[in-house]
Amino acid sequence: MRALQLFGDRDLRLVDVDAPPAPGPGEVQVRIRAVGLNHIDVWGFRGMAFAKRKLPLTVGAEASGEIVAVGEGVSRVAAGDRVALYGAKTCGECRACREGHDNLCENVAGIMGFHVDGFTCELVNMPERLLVKVPDGVSFEEAACAPIAFGTVQHMLFDNAKLEAGETVLVHAGGSGIGTAAVLMAKAIGCTVITTVGDDEKGAKVKALGADHVINYRTDRFEGVVRKLTGRKGVDVVFEHVGADTWNGSLLSLKRGGRLVTCGSTSGVSTTMNLMQLFQQQYRIFGSFGCTIRNIGEALDKMAAGIRPVIDTVYSLDHFQDGLDRLESRKVFGKLIVTV
Ligand SMILES: [Zn+2]
Repeated sequence: MRALQLFGDRDLRLVDVDAPPAPGPGEVQVRIRAVGLNHIDVWGFRGMAFAKRKLPLTVGAEASGEIVAVGEGVSRVAAGDRVALYGAKTCGECRACREGHDNLCENVAGIMGFHVDGFTCELVNMPERLLVKVPDGVSFEEAACAPIAFGTVQHMLFDNAKLEAGETVLVHAGGSGIGTAAVLMAKAIGCTVITTVGDDEKGAKVKALGADHVINYRTDRFEGVVRKLTGRKGVDVVFEHVGADTWNGSLLSLKRGGRLVTCGSTSGVSTTMNLMQLFQQQYRIFGSFGCTIRNIGEALDKMAAGIRPVIDTVYSLDHFQDGLDRLESRKVFGKLIVTV
């Protein structure tokens, strides 16, 4: 079968590899149909893996597909079912996994496409428990945005920040894959959404998605605008994933007792912060990484109910690297998808 593999830093090749064997007990064989691109793919491509990994490595962390065969004892899914695939190889046995917190697994083998072989190939075998059925009316391309983009946002906003109807939320980089998802999900429950963007063209598009206020962070100090928009009170929740460039402004945008949730640091991993401000203002800060299997189901249900992911471009498999270059350049509105 064909697989897109990373052989070294910035060295991706489309190669022929052996297809996986028939699925074992509890396993399912999936024909991959669509793969979502994420910043973690860019890090892996640039050689920024934090743990040891064996190269060549099949890339792709976020995917959807169709079940072609099931192993012994598989009961929840059947051949022909359309599924979204969890993006990490978790054990299923530790306390975190048993309680449904797979993203806290104590024995995780790694993130697909980053530490262990991923999904940019024709067939993969997966444990049944790491698959979530895709509802009717949701396409493979849309479903490929559920395991990381939509799932991560669901986990950040609702499990961690406990965002509620009527609250005000600041969403950074509202034109990004997760930014667009956060704007849509927050608007869907009746929140006021303030968002930052890097150019006015993106600003107009985010506004069309429903954002109430758009701030161009290149021309305005966003924390000043946020304080003005909220009558000096600040927002209830900040949705962070930019990191060093925005961190302190994000804290200044929060109201007393506000919540900041972060899942990324694309502008840099180190910063300093005022601890007196942290405790006096009683901020609550949540680090968030990935999502639970339940979050993927919640994300897919939202898609079926009409919260459609914003897809910028769909590439064929041999244009995966073009997608990574686009993602790195930030000239993207929404998600980039590769069909397999
Ligand atoms: Zn586990």
